[in-house]
Amino acid sequence: MSYIKVVLKSGKDQSMRRYHPWVFSGAIKKIYGQPAEGDIVEVFDNKDEYLGTGHYQIGSIAVRIVSFQQVEINEAFWKSQIKKAYDLRNVQGFIDNPETNAYRLVGAEGDNLPGLIIDMYDDTAVVQMHSIGMYLIKDTVDAILKELFGDALKAIYNKSEGTIPFKADVTPENGYTFGQSEARIALENGLKFRVDWEKGQKTGFFVDQRDNRALLEHYSKGRKVLNMFCYTGGFSFYAMRGGAELVHSVDSSARAIDLTNENVELNFPEDPRHDAFAVDAFKYLDDIKGKYDLIILDPPAFAKHNNVLNNALQGYKKLNAKAFEQIAPGGIIFTFSCSGVVTKENFRKSVFAAAARSGRTVRILNQLTQPADHPVNIYHPEGEYLKGLVLQVE
Ligand code: SAH
Repeated sequence: MSYIKVVLKSGKDQSMRRYHPWVFSGAIKKIYGQPAEGDIVEVFDNKDEYLGTGHYQIGSIAVRIVSFQQVEINEAFWKSQIKKAYDLRNVQGFIDNPETNAYRLVGAEGDNLPGLIIDMYDDTAVVQMHSIGMYLIKDTVDAILKELFGDALKAIYNKSEGTIPFKADVTPENGYTFGQSEARIALENGLKFRVDWEKGQKTGFFVDQRDNRALLEHYSKGRKVLNMFCYTGGFSFYAMRGGAELVHSVDSSARAIDLTNENVELNFPEDPRHDAFAVDAFKYLDDIKGKYDLIILDPPAFAKHNNVLNNALQGYKKLNAKAFEQIAPGGIIFTFSCSGVVTKENFRKSVFAAAARSGRTVRILNQLTQPADHPVNIYHPEGEYLKGLVLQVE
């Protein structure tokens, strides 16, 4: 099998020599032929030395490397890569786990499969492609999943409508590509939640906060908890199980508030400790002086691109400053950033600036990140997108 050859400009091979899986269009000197979007191409340096093989696409990232070895990219290759991801989740205890059946099976670059996300919710796989090359092999991916899980897999839902570049020559539609799933209640550490992969954000639930929610549970006893940006209420029902005195969930989306109420009801029917409000976070935080002693701040990504990084850092500063001003003495703050372009250091600086503005004594108790089913490829630091701090405020 011969693939179209892409040659890099002199000096532009350094990042690939360090196994970074992205080739930017500006690094390319010449393409020998006309690859279609999604085609497999081979990348060489200026002296004709092979560097890697990947999916070609028009855009700032021109090639997403799937192998640094010059092998044929066929069904057997994809199968072995997805099987590695499956085996890792098996080692980590996610497969057939009676307490937790929502987890990330494939996490793109973190599993050396750039452009492919697969989240499992009980017996349903939600597949999301972020590159045309991955979208073109969707039938192969489905066949591999069926083979790996056998009867344990009842449905596959493809949710790539909004994640493929709109100019591409494919027209993905969201929908089932195998079976149809009725059961929409999934489990996380024994707690129930309804997942709506058809209408929900991302693949339906933020599985990446699992470990951080579990930690929150241990901080919650006797506390008055504010879960800001609650979405489906994940942190709220963990706080309730942890023995919180009251839990208030806030999100600007009315639909998120409905989902939160539904999930709390599934776990703690008619529990008077919980209430939920559809309001803007920045407004809500203005008027709660001393009312809460545990506040969770898990906002949406304030920056998706480097050019808006400064605004994002200001946003984190402003948001955290409000929490520092308002939280009761001895309070605990769980604060997060899920923006890939915001580094751990930058996030910490924003929180530092917010703390300094309040003049209160603040200590870092825990430093948080994404869980083990969201592995970070050591050569692709951008994959470490979730960072958080647990703070105590005197
Ligand atoms: N903490 C959640 C995930 C949060 S996702 C979990 O554990 O699952 C971010 C949420 O912030 C979304 O639900 C979105 O509706 C909400 N949001 C965005 N802007 C907001 C604002 N200005 N005020 C309140 N909520 C907001």
